[in-house]
Amino acid sequence: MSSSSHHEYMCPQCNHINALPDRALRNMYKEQLTTCEKCGCKLEVTPADGINNQINIVVAIAGQEYTVP
Ligand SMILES: [Zn+2]
Repeated sequence: MSSSSHHEYMCPQCNHINALPDRALRNMYKEQLTTCEKCGCKLEVTPADGINNQINIVVAIAGQEYTVP
């Protein structure tokens, strides 16, 4: 897997596209606290295996569940 692979997730609060830090992908299936760079909303992102070797990123705001397809 390339170290330059780039993954993104959408902020459920403002729909801004944030880049997922590479370090987050080393902790698959673990919730990781991050902050939307646009609205500053505290987010929990959980990287999971998706179809076709893609990463499916689940994003949650403070207790709410939200899935980015
Ligand atoms: Zn945001």
